Amino acid sequence: MNKNSSNIMALAPNTSNKRETVCIFGTGDFGRALGHKLIQSGYPVVFGSRSTQTSSLIPKEAEVLSHAEAAQKAAIIIIAIQRQHYNFLIPLAEILRGKVLVDISNNLKINQYPESNAEYLAQLVPGAKVVKAFNTVSAWALQSGTLDASRQVFVCGDDMEAKQMVMDIVRALGLTPLDQGSLLAAQEIENYPLQLFPMWKFPILLSLGLIAFFFFYCLIRDVIYPYVYENKDYSFFIAISITNRICPILALILLALVYLPGVLAAIIQLYRGTKYRRFPDWLDKWMLCRKQLGLVALAFASLHVLYTLVIPIRSFVRWRISSQTVSQALNNKTEPLDTTNAWLSDSYLALGILGFFLFVLLGITSLPSVSNNVNWREFRFVQSKLGYLTLVLCTAHTMVYGGKWFLSPSSYRWYLPNAYMLSLIIPCTVLVIKFVLIFPCLDKPLTRIRQGWERNPQYSE
Ligand code: NAP
Repeated sequence: MNKNSSNIMALAPNTSNKRETVCIFGTGDFGRALGHKLIQSGYPVVFGSRSTQTSSLIPKEAEVLSHAEAAQKAAIIIIAIQRQHYNFLIPLAEILRGKVLVDISNNLKINQYPESNAEYLAQLVPGAKVVKAFNTVSAWALQSGTLDASRQVFVCGDDMEAKQMVMDIVRALGLTPLDQGSLLAAQEIENYPLQLFPMWKFPILLSLGLIAFFFFYCLIRDVIYPYVYENKDYSFFIAISITNRICPILALILLALVYLPGVLAAIIQLYRGTKYRRFPDWLDKWMLCRKQLGLVALAFASLHVLYTLVIPIRSFVRWRISSQTVSQALNNKTEPLDTTNAWLSDSYLALGILGFFLFVLLGITSLPSVSNNVNWREFRFVQSKLGYLTLVLCTAHTMVYGGKWFLSPSSYRWYLPNAYMLSLIIPCTVLVIKFVLIFPCLDKPLTRIRQGWERNPQYSE
């Protein structure tokens, strides 16, 4: 469900001061919270309950009656009751004829029932006009007034007039109604509150898997190997050295994974000669979470920067530098400056700084407040061209860092190459394929396919 959908209804102030009575079935958490809010907004409220005894929790301005009596006092009835208890409404069908029934219910699982709760309610009480609303607002947020993140209320229903009445109430409560169309949309609206960061699941699970893999990989190479062969205890590497190895590796791999689905999609389109056939589901899903992958990558890159800044104050590093200085003094010999090494070190630092700067720029432009202010072409320029430049810079940063050891046998421990060598596989693959796709013999047909041309048109005139 797109929260930013453009069909936010225009605010139409209700000109009459007199508010219609609203009936709420159910004096549970939500019924009471909504009752409080309605009374604050000037609506007379009547509760329909199994017990007509009022309690201190129920707003004292509200009446508590039986369901049948309460229903007769209002044109709108909000059903603040779980779906499994809806059967009690069947005997009330005659009284509810022509009334607007507002279904606010949620389920415990996505697509728990074959039909939505609102459609089920419409089947049980066929003479009523059912509107779905309020299910994305929590009782706690209504009561505490902390509605910043959930001010939008999705509304759907088959009867325009009934929907309009409910949307007027939503506005009067200081919330924003979002018309989602007919009651068919209710299923999707009911599934919405059950989704838990749907786009973040893949990036986070993937990151956890990669962290576990690279942690054990580095542990074997950097801690267990020296312990076995040199009897040296480098277990303290876990705190900073290994973490600072894993962070840039993950940042680079995840950044490359942001661009890999794009090149795979291009290959598929070239192979099929059309853009009108759907991509496989896994590729569609992967493309949808590219922003989240990029943001997780940026988080790892930022951690790498912080861990790198503390290197000079590490006790191990200070010990190594001072012991080298002492050994040079004892041998009365100074190492001449190796300009090649100085060049490599400065270049790798410069590439890292520039890569990180562009990475941050990419992250900033993905924020809704920024991306809403650039046009589509500008957004694509930043995310695609600057994105690839970032990938090139970060890949080059890693290559320059360890390039000289690639072929050195001493850098392999138990035949395992350095972890950063593994991190280069996906970025290099993406960059090579992208480079190949730039060649006019591939780029021209791809551009035509993306403009709608088909090699074997399915529907020829
Ligand atoms: P609740 O605290 O359990 O209250 C439900 C109320 O339903 C009870 O207080 C009771 O009212 C009535 N009830 C229970 N069994 C019944 C039966 N067999 N027949 C008739 N009425 C019965 O639940 P709630 O948290 O208020 O949630 C109510 C509805 O709002 C649910 O469908 C839920 O999905 C939806 N919702 C809740 C929230 C939330 O934050 N709580 C948010 C969005 C949507 P009486 O004792 O007065 O009869």
